[in-house]
Amino acid sequence: MGQVFELQAADAAGRIGELTVPRAGVTIETPTLLPVINPHLDTIAPRRLADEFGAEALITNAYIFHGSEDYRERALAEGLHDLLDFPGAIVTDSGSFQLAEYGEIDVTTEEILQFQRDIGSDVATPVDIPTPPDVSRERAEAELATTEERLAVADSFEAGDMLVTAPVQGSTYPDLREAAGTRAASTGLDVFPVGAVVPLLNEYRYADVVDVVAAAKRGLGPAAPVHLFGAGHPMMFALAAALGCDLFDSAAYAIYARDDRYLTVRGTRHLDELDHLPCSCPICVDHGAAGLRDLPDDRRETALAAHNLHVSFAEIRRIKAAIREGSLLELVDERARSHPAMLDGYRALLDHADQLERDDPASKGTFFYTSAESARRPEVARHHDRLDRLSVPDSLFLTEGPDPPTDDYEETWRVVPPFGPVPSDLSRTYPLTAEVPTRPDRPAIEAAADGVSRLVARHPDARVGLGHRGWPADVLATLPDDVELIDGDDRGRTR
Ligand SMILES: [Zn+2]
Repeated sequence: MGQVFELQAADAAGRIGELTVPRAGVTIETPTLLPVINPHLDTIAPRRLADEFGAEALITNAYIFHGSEDYRERALAEGLHDLLDFPGAIVTDSGSFQLAEYGEIDVTTEEILQFQRDIGSDVATPVDIPTPPDVSRERAEAELATTEERLAVADSFEAGDMLVTAPVQGSTYPDLREAAGTRAASTGLDVFPVGAVVPLLNEYRYADVVDVVAAAKRGLGPAAPVHLFGAGHPMMFALAAALGCDLFDSAAYAIYARDDRYLTVRGTRHLDELDHLPCSCPICVDHGAAGLRDLPDDRRETALAAHNLHVSFAEIRRIKAAIREGSLLELVDERARSHPAMLDGYRALLDHADQLERDDPASKGTFFYTSAESARRPEVARHHDRLDRLSVPDSLFLTEGPDPPTDDYEETWRVVPPFGPVPSDLSRTYPLTAEVPTRPDRPAIEAAADGVSRLVARHPDARVGLGHRGWPADVLATLPDDVELIDGDDRGRTR
């Protein structure tokens, strides 16, 4: 891959990066959002996107310019930057979307790349085949082979200082996505869209989106800048960012506004349902719900589109702040409560805890246990791995609170759900400085018990006692038989 992306900070597999776009003469801080501009529908002018919303890049479709006689000549004569009046980076798509919708297009990869170069695109896209979810494996493989032939054409195309993307396809086959990611990263191409996830997003199949992206990321590796193509709803930005997606594009802000749909980070509302607006952007403050409803159609559409963008960019800023402070998974956890399908997505993310763990920094802010899912966070698995490397005295009392029954244990360590045993000399290190509820839930207790079992299994000759506070009998039954148990519970914990 090219050398245009630099990582600055990480949290889970999420990261803050810098993408240098030489042709535009700009460096973009990621994660970021690229508003989609359709030249035929000027909902919010590109200049306003830059000045008012801070958009550092936008995306438009070169195929639309190519197919319109008027726009084609103007784009070739003036260049996209002057034609659109946008000072940031301009990314162009190639017509793959039209290919997916209508079955064919009338340009080759070489022609459309040359056209993108001629109209002054900063980041161009070859014509890949966006294979939908759930197709036969034969079709997914055949279309992936075609996409990769076109990536080879793009790789040898004389792009000058224009960046070129390498879309990663493979339908819903994780092994195909991973292999496609590996091969894409081995080209000299620069930016890596994970393609054809829109049908999954439209059906709220967030767990499948997670599996597809995680597979592509395994192949691409951490150094590749990744664009989650077609993901424009702010509700799922944090989830995708935690997987290591760096670029998002939004057509949703404008499309939703057309139908009076109001985006929030907890889902979409129809303007008619809202008495009060849960937002303090300038549009919402100035108009209020009734004021927005009373606007004439065209002004209401523009106002809603502006709100939709404000809420989307605010979420991007919130994600960056969370990555900096190491609380991205807590933000994902919060967003996961907005819809059961989002919760599935978060749970699928935690199925890839090993993969997240590889990129996650060893030390960050304070771990907050905010839901049962927190027990499956990569930090818990990492602590359990670390238990394997600890030396243990001949006799050790592990305790959640009750005192040891006798003083003949050589050492006493605390037990903290979900981490399990916490040696005294590690108790001030991340993640053991965690804030956890005083009433742990069952998944936390189960994880703590796993930690105890792991330590005992590693040190079969040590004598180990456990002082717990009312752990359920079936969880205690998972512990090795020779662990001496003391129940110190007098709180009647619910379980
Ligand atoms: Zn607003």
